[in-house]
Amino acid sequence: MAETAQEILKMIEDQNIELIDLKFVDLYGIWQHCTFHKSLIEEESFLNSGGVAFDGSSIRGWKAINSSDMAMVPDPTTAWIDPFMEVPTLSMVCTIVDPRTGQMYERDPRSIAQKAVDYLISTGIGDKVFCGPEPEFFIFDDVRYGQEGHTGYYAVDSSEGSWNSGSSEPGGNLGFKIGKKRGYFPAAPSDTLQDIRTEMLLTMAKCGVPIEKHHHEVAAGGQCELGIRFSDLVHAADYVQTYKYVVKNVARKYGKTATFMPKPIHDDNGSGMHSHMSIWKDGQPLFAGDKYAGLSQMALHFIGGLIRHAPSLLAFTNPTVNSYKRLVPGFEAPVNLAYSAGNRSASIRIPLSGSNPKAKRLEFRCPDASSNPYLTFSAMLCAGLDGIKNQIDPGEPLDVDIYEMSKEELAKVPKAPANLGEALANLERDHEFLTAGGVFPEDFIYNWIAMKMEGEVKPISKLPTPYEFELY
Ligand code: GLU
Ligand code: MG
Ligand code: MG
Repeated sequence: MAETAQEILKMIEDQNIELIDLKFVDLYGIWQHCTFHKSLIEEESFLNSGGVAFDGSSIRGWKAINSSDMAMVPDPTTAWIDPFMEVPTLSMVCTIVDPRTGQMYERDPRSIAQKAVDYLISTGIGDKVFCGPEPEFFIFDDVRYGQEGHTGYYAVDSSEGSWNSGSSEPGGNLGFKIGKKRGYFPAAPSDTLQDIRTEMLLTMAKCGVPIEKHHHEVAAGGQCELGIRFSDLVHAADYVQTYKYVVKNVARKYGKTATFMPKPIHDDNGSGMHSHMSIWKDGQPLFAGDKYAGLSQMALHFIGGLIRHAPSLLAFTNPTVNSYKRLVPGFEAPVNLAYSAGNRSASIRIPLSGSNPKAKRLEFRCPDASSNPYLTFSAMLCAGLDGIKNQIDPGEPLDVDIYEMSKEELAKVPKAPANLGEALANLERDHEFLTAGGVFPEDFIYNWIAMKMEGEVKPISKLPTPYEFELY
């Protein structure tokens, strides 16, 4: 990994790089990019604070046309050779600077993530936050889409437990086909995606992502997960971007398409992005202690903050209309805003970490990969810090089997919002925990609410769905 501009110049020289591809993330979590000839990078300013100018008014939700000039400033620690480009091309992730003020642009998600870390440091609570995201996704065959007999996104056979359910092909001998909720994780020939996942994982490693493993996930029909190691907040978000880029581009090479949409298939598991988090100071982990499940009091307060603010926090961690089709009972996705050491229906789980205090962390199970990882991790950190600062009590853990609980008892447990509109309304009421320390500007929050309401909630509510045709 390069650390300085000098090291980047050396990389260009040593590896015969011809082109430099600068990437940055937009509000929706989509990478935007522009490619430059190496002769340009040899000018010092390109790599230092000045950055490279571009038109910010064409990026959805950014600058107005009358103040459109922005600058991308590449971060040398994110440099890798892009495996999908024919000519040797060095890729770098950028932070966006407003050239008028020389400050980080207030709507740039990567700048917000940097500010979230700065805020943590300014509170004196910690100096490092580690994030371990688990993005899940589906791989579909491109070619079958639209073919006769393929009924699309609610195609899964609903005959519970049938070994040959989970097919989008009605009838026929399905042989080794994985059934509904049976994808975790029979070996080949049931698992037909081994080689493609291996290529995804090894390609990610070449792009600097700290990889661990890959496997089929629970849902039938190609749900997958690649495991990556935890990293500091900003780099963890960079790695999620690289992860998605590699998954989508390798899938394309195989004539397939990959989607991180949270609930593409009706009546089978959806795709989450569980996010693990812990705070450290002076090289020491602060979430290990002698309280519940080996947590510290600080970690319990962090959980208290997450639970209290979850109803509005989800507007960032679960930011699409489709996100809420995943957050329903019965599919390992959380519904209850509670914590537990083992209960996967709780939104916060404390994974077993043995006797190693460094591994002590919490897993927030709500987020999904339709979210922008920079905003997801930053908003989670802000909610947790609010919990620590205000010593918010998380209440009792939800250790009982929820199927054993009475209706009255269960009704007392707060629930995740039912839909995106509800989460956005909650965000409008409750966002001081995000604006604290200047992490999320107020204007950013109102822009987010408007963008999501006008661009997604309202238009989708007007769309008739295939299921309505079936019903009516
Ligand atoms: N796919 C599940 C979800 O929607 C999670 C499965 C798992 O525990 O990895 O959250
Ligand atoms: Mg998983
Ligand atoms: Mg998990």
